[in-house]
Amino acid sequence: MTDEKTQTQEFKLDPDCELRFEVETKNEKVTVELKTGLAEVFGTELVKGRKYEFTAGAKVAVFTWQGCTVELVGKTDVSYVAKETPMGIYLNCHAAMERLREAAEKDDTRGPITMVVGPSDVGKSTLCRLLLNYAVRMGRRPIFVDLDVGQGHIAIPGTVGALLVERPSNVVDGFSQQAPLVFHFGHKTPQANIALYNLLVTRLAEVCSDRLQANKKARMSGIVINTCGWVKGEGYKLLTHAAQAFEVDAILVLDQERLYNELVRDMPDFVRVVLLPKSGGVVERSQVQRTEARDQSVREYFYGSRTPLYPHSFEVKWSEARLYKIGAPVLPASCMPLGMKAEDNLTKLVAVTPGPNLLHHLLSVSFADSPEDDVVQTNVAGFVCVTNVDVERQTFTVLSPQPRPLPNTVLLLSDIQFMDSH
Ligand code: ADP
Repeated sequence: MTDEKTQTQEFKLDPDCELRFEVETKNEKVTVELKTGLAEVFGTELVKGRKYEFTAGAKVAVFTWQGCTVELVGKTDVSYVAKETPMGIYLNCHAAMERLREAAEKDDTRGPITMVVGPSDVGKSTLCRLLLNYAVRMGRRPIFVDLDVGQGHIAIPGTVGALLVERPSNVVDGFSQQAPLVFHFGHKTPQANIALYNLLVTRLAEVCSDRLQANKKARMSGIVINTCGWVKGEGYKLLTHAAQAFEVDAILVLDQERLYNELVRDMPDFVRVVLLPKSGGVVERSQVQRTEARDQSVREYFYGSRTPLYPHSFEVKWSEARLYKIGAPVLPASCMPLGMKAEDNLTKLVAVTPGPNLLHHLLSVSFADSPEDDVVQTNVAGFVCVTNVDVERQTFTVLSPQPRPLPNTVLLLSDIQFMDSH
C-alpha cells in the first residue's frame, strides 16, 4: 500500500522474509516502525512502536523470522520484500560458533576466531555485524576486529581496530564505539603500504590475544574479523597472513568460489573454510558512493550522528606540533645502511615539516609521548583534521573532538583528507 503524498508504505512480511530499502536522496529521511510481530535489522531486534530514522546512503534490510508488519515513512529510492535470503545459512554459522563457545566454556579454552572474507560489496561487514549481534544476544562478549582500512567501521577510514562488543549494534548507527583499540595506518587501501599493514595486523592480533587471556567472558566468546575486499594476488597474501596472525579457526568466504578453493588449498587442516552465498540485497557501491561513505564516517566522528557532537577548532603553532608519518620511500638496497632491509623504510617513523601540504589531512593523535617510543605499534587516542594552514604566521588550525591544547604527543599524518563543510 503506497500513499504518494505522505509516502507512507506498509509492508506485511511473512516469516523468513525481509524488507529491503535504500535512501539515496540527499537530506531525505526515512523512518521505520515495527507495527506488529518481531523483526531485526542485521541482527538487532526492533522495538515495537519505536521510530528508527535513516538518512541518505542507508541500505537496510528488516528481516523477520516470525512474520511482522512494518511501516516506512519518507521517500525511499528502492523498497521491496524479498522471500529468498541466506539468513538461515548465516544462522547456522552462528549456531556452529555457539557450539564452539559452549565447548570453550566447559573446557576453559578459547572460543571461535572467525574471519569473514570476500570481494568488495558482498556483505562482509553486515555478516560480521549479524554474527556479533547474535552472539551478544546470547550473553556473549565477542571481540570485533576490523581490518578493512577502506571503510574503518571501528574508528575512521585509514585505521585498523578492535572493539569488545557488549551490546547489540544500534539499528541506525552500528556498534557503539566506546573505548576501541585503534592503530594508525594512514591510507585507504593496504596496497599503499603492505609492510606496515601486515605489521599492524600482527600487532593487533597480539593485543587481542592478550585481551582474551585477561577476560574470561571474551575468551569464550571469541573474535569476529572483518577484512578488505582486495582478495587477489598480494591482497590474498594479506588474508592468509591475517589468518595466521590471529590463529583463526574458521574462514567464512562470501560469494567467491575461487577464493574459497584457494583458501581450502592453502590453509592448514584445522582451519574450517566455509563458502557462503551473498545476500541478494547487498548493494554494490560505486567509487563515488565509497568516497561518500568514507566522508560520512569522518563527519560522524567529529559531528556525531543522532546525538550531535560539537568539535573544537583552534590553532597550533608549527613549532609545537610533533608531526610524523609512517614510511619513507623505499631506497635501492645499495643505499640502505648496513643491516637494514629496503622494506624497513616502509615502517619507519619520518618527521614531517608542517606546511600547506597538511591542509584537509587527518592526523592521528598517538598515545606515544615521544618519537623514541615504538610509535608505529602504539595505538591512537583519536583524530584531528587540519582545516587551515597559515604560512605567514606558521600555524595550522585543527578540528578536534577535544578542546585546546592538543595533547603533547606524537601526531601521525594520514593520506586521507576530509573537507569540513560545517
Ligand atoms: P562489504 O563489507 O562486503 O563491502 P557490506 O556489508 O558493507 O559489504 O554491504 C554493502 C551494503 O549493502 C551496505 O550498505 C549494507 O547495509 C547493504 N546490505 C547488506 N545486506 C543487505 C540486505 N540484505 N538488504 C539490503 N541491503 C543490504
